Amino acid sequence: MRIGFGYDIHPLEDGIPLVLGGITIPHFSGCKAHSDGDVVIHALCDALLGAAGLGDIGQLFPSSDPKWKNRNSRYFLEEILQLITVNGWEIANIDLLIQAEKPVLNPYFKEMRHQLSQILNLQSNQINLKAGTNEKLGPIGQEKAIACYAVCLLQSRL
Ligand code: MG
Repeated sequence: MRIGFGYDIHPLEDGIPLVLGGITIPHFSGCKAHSDGDVVIHALCDALLGAAGLGDIGQLFPSSDPKWKNRNSRYFLEEILQLITVNGWEIANIDLLIQAEKPVLNPYFKEMRHQLSQILNLQSNQINLKAGTNEKLGPIGQEKAIACYAVCLLQSRL
């Protein structure tokens, strides 16, 4: 078994879609990024790559490459699932912690888990989601950014 860790943060900008965990959440601002800014999937991608010893999302899909501009992050996750699978790994579980002052995210967890479990061919109970504010501290607390921490456990299929 192998453990992996990932983290991502993106600044918030008014008037763009907020995409987290593969779903669009109604909010007046969204994560500004080269891709769709889905910090949950980006953190998760890095956790999976980390556990498999395969580098990080920036190496695979460099933001300097126009090919990845405005790309749905679901694509990155699907590619990384392929990669870890051919390297002999399967996912045991995933734990995600989103840090956002607003909006309240718990009402969207069921849909996010469903979406992520569909992409990764997992049972919903293999994916756990948590959310917290940053107690009004720093850029996250001032609603200028959203961040996500991810850990995952991979087990060998061989
Ligand atoms: Mg990112």
